[in-house]
Amino acid sequence: MGEPLQRVFVPSVTEEEGGTLGLGCFSSEETAWQVLRAFLKKSEQMLLQACSVVVWDVDIVGEDAMTVLSSMECKDCPVCGRRTFWIDVDNFSALCHGTACSAWIEENTVDPEIIDCGWPTIRFLKQNKSIEEAVESLFKLGDRLKSAGEERMDQTSAEQMLEDDTD
Ligand SMILES: [Zn+2]
Repeated sequence: MGEPLQRVFVPSVTEEEGGTLGLGCFSSEETAWQVLRAFLKKSEQMLLQACSVVVWDVDIVGEDAMTVLSSMECKDCPVCGRRTFWIDVDNFSALCHGTACSAWIEENTVDPEIIDCGWPTIRFLKQNKSIEEAVESLFKLGDRLKSAGEERMDQTSAEQMLEDDTD
């Protein structure tokens, strides 16, 4: 027999209708995140609103037993328009889990004043002053893709289109 469990990690997602789905209860934070990330790939087929990883200390009564490690909200992706864009409000980061999209926003690793955003399909990368500006940049990109009339354009044509459009 090993050491008795002191704490467990519980990932869960909330559906738009308000129902919460528990995804299991794990002995390590890493596993909890793996399970949650794998599940978020299904965001495309479901209308999800939020998700979180919570740690519970065992044998403790009441709300002191529970700590929210991280929580994220799901929004419509500025680039592909699907409800697959997960925003971590505490850490200023976001990632689209939609197939073949992966639009992202992250705090710059060197300068925390800068918020980076990008879209890997065409290696689009832009530095912004705020998370709002980063979201705005991605929306502009999404609009340009839409007005080009192709939902899934290939890399070359997307790059060409953006070059034509640089200031
Ligand atoms: Zn997307």
